[in-house]
Parts: sequence; structure tokens; C-alpha cells
Amino acid sequence: MISVNQALSILQKNLPACSSGEEVLVSSALGRILAEDYFSEDDSPRCTNSAMDGYAVRWNDIKNASLDKPITLQVVGESQAGIPYCEKLLEGQVIRISTGAMMPEGTDTVVRVEDTKEGGAADVKIFAIKKKGQDIRFAGEEFKVGDKLLQKGVKLRARQLALLVAVGCEKIEVFRQPQIGLLITGSELTVVEDSTIKQFQIRDSNSIMLNNAVLEDGGVVSQCHHVDDNLQKTIEIVEKLMVSDVDVILCSGGVSVGRHDHVKTAVESLGFEQLFWRIKQKPGKPLFAAIKGAKLLFGLPGNPVSAFMCYSHYVKPLISAMQGRDFQWKFLTAAADELIENSGKRTTFMRVKIDYHCSDFPLISKVEKQGSHMLSSVVDADGYIILEPGEKVLKGGSFKVYLL
Ligand code: AMP
Ligand code: MG
Repeated sequence: MISVNQALSILQKNLPACSSGEEVLVSSALGRILAEDYFSEDDSPRCTNSAMDGYAVRWNDIKNASLDKPITLQVVGESQAGIPYCEKLLEGQVIRISTGAMMPEGTDTVVRVEDTKEGGAADVKIFAIKKKGQDIRFAGEEFKVGDKLLQKGVKLRARQLALLVAVGCEKIEVFRQPQIGLLITGSELTVVEDSTIKQFQIRDSNSIMLNNAVLEDGGVVSQCHHVDDNLQKTIEIVEKLMVSDVDVILCSGGVSVGRHDHVKTAVESLGFEQLFWRIKQKPGKPLFAAIKGAKLLFGLPGNPVSAFMCYSHYVKPLISAMQGRDFQWKFLTAAADELIENSGKRTTFMRVKIDYHCSDFPLISKVEKQGSHMLSSVVDADGYIILEPGEKVLKGGSFKVYLL
């Protein structure tokens, strides 16, 4: 058996090539990774406009206004958001203006509604003003055409998509989604729609889990096959996947030492070279990785928790690296809210809950049931910590928490 770090370094030496770029509509780019730096196609703001509802004025007209000595000016029109006032304002004139509306020529300051009182004959009293240029958003003050807005490698989420659309970007260059092929093994498996499920059968939950984990990480499962615990059938499906365009093959189950575990034998009979098999870790000891040409294959243990933890620690960063990002995890530092120890003989991925609210510092506590068949242990967890055999941390001790 090798260690977690040995397995990771073998993997990093055998990373598949980074995906090429492709152009996609911004409207369908959620979750995709930017393949090149993005430079703005527009100024922001696009025009000089008001930050408040009030009056657009000329500073020279109102600079001496005060509560005791208000200044009365003539209201000659209005600039609404989307319906600008297009004439130049002359001395003594003001217009009503709404938030986001364009400032007309000749004006240089906004007086808030609260600091004014409108009279009957199209006039307004100005009671107070702080400074010239008050409450104006100037054209280009945030950024200008050609300024770098987004860095290559950024994940496009709701807010990045909003920014792109705001500056007129319709299509964007992102990394191609890594193509993943799934091979789900197990004669005990059936589907969720099966109303005649027998007591000795289980519903295949690894398919939906892996499918969506891959999607969340920017990849796509382009093929998903199911096979009984049968060597010949397993070979046939792996062969199919080998000649397909998938970059990475994820097998679920059938990779341990049981008489009906055929994945390893099947894969090796097809010329895959083993990178590693069996890691001194819990859960997920039987994890298997192999390579043939440009195709990488993982044999994930069938137990759902083991499959998920192996995916999270080994496959997830790999999919990320295939999209031009670092091979790494998201983590934070938190303190133990109780004594936490690993009394076993293997490195443990201990699933923990994070409490962000009880103290200044995030606190972690163990998820109670950690069995590798207990899916609730990953559902209830916010992250996991890595504990070496014999490692013990007292309450208050700090940990690096890998976020799920
Ligand atoms: P295996 O690694 O094939 O020995 O599978 C270990 C255990 O994981 C099996 O006994 C099943 O209980 C469970 N298991 C295997 N495949 C799946 C799956 N696709 N969905 C849910 N549970 C599974
Ligand atoms: Mg099995």
C-alpha cells in the first residue's frame, strides 16, 4: 500500500493534458472556466449618471445654499433612467433626476431629494449641498474599454456572467469540459424507478453522485455504462470507452480483492498500466488508477462514501487541473470543538461539520457516523480533515479543513 501523498504525486506526474478552448454563449457558460483573460468591451458606467434621486444642478448656482438661506432654482425638465434630458442646462436651471439617469450637459452635481423642497411654480428650494460632484457616478470610473476584467482560470458563476453581459460580451472562450466516462459495476444494483426492488438489491446511487460531482466541477459525463460483476462484459465496456473521446474513465465498484471484483483484471488485460492500487487511507483503501496512452482510469471503490471521498480528494482536483487551474482543493483553517483522534492504522479522511457562528473562529466537530457505507456521513459534512494514524488533536487545536 502507498500513502495518500505518494498516490497524489503519482497522479500529478500523469495529469491528462489541459483541455483546449472553445467559444460558448455567455448565457450557457455557468460553471465553465475562462480560457483566456477577458478585457472589457465597454466603459463602466457607460455614461455619467446620478447615484441618487434628486436634482441635477450646476455647482456654481447652489454652492452657497444652506438651511437658513435656501436657493431657489427653476425646474426645466427631468432625466429618468432610460429617458435622458437632452438639452444643456443654463444658469439658474435644474432638472429632476432619478438614480441611474444620465446627467445633462452643463450639470456637475446632484442634490438629494431630502435636501430640497419643490414649490408650486416649477421651482425648487435647495437647502444643503456638501461638495461639487456629489452623488455622481462618472463614466468609466469603475473601468474602461480594454481594462482586464476577468483572469484566465476564473470559474464563471452568476456574478461573473452578469459582469460579462453588462459590458456587452455575448460569447466567451472557455476550456472544453473534460469528458468523463462512467462504468458502474455491481450485480446487486438496480435503478430508483424499480418498484420490484428485492431485499438483496440496492439502488445505484453512485451514478447520479459521480455524474453531478463531475458537472459541479466543470466536466461532463458523456457516457455512463452499467455492468454486472462479469469479467467479459466489463472488458467489453472498457474497450468501448477506450476508443471513445472520453478523457478520464471512472469505474465504480469491483476493484477490491473479492472473487467478483473484475475491474482491475479487465483494465490490465486491455493494456492499461497500473499507476497505483490500494492506498493506506480510510475510507477508500482499494482506490485504483491506471493509464493507457492519454486515457486515465480510476477504479473507485463501490461504497458510496469511499467513492465520494476518493472522487473529492483525487479526481476533483484533476478535473480542475484539466481546465487550466491548479491541482488543489478548497480549504480553510478551523479549530476542533472536541478531542479529535485517529486511533486506526490508516490515514483517515474524517468528515466534519463546520460551525461558523459560535465563535470568532470556525469550529469543527466530527460527523457522528463515519461508516463507508453511510452516505449521510458526507451529506451531513461540510468538509473533511486528514488525520494520520495515531494523530490526536485536543479541543481548540487547529486543522486544515478540505471543503466539500
Ligand atoms: P464493491 O466495491 O463493488 O465491493 O462495492 C462495495 C459496496 O458498495 C457494495 O456492497 C454496495 O453495497 C455498494 N455499492 C457498490 N456500487 C454501488 C453503487 N453504484 N451505488 C451504491 N452503492 C454501491
Ligand atoms: Mg461490487
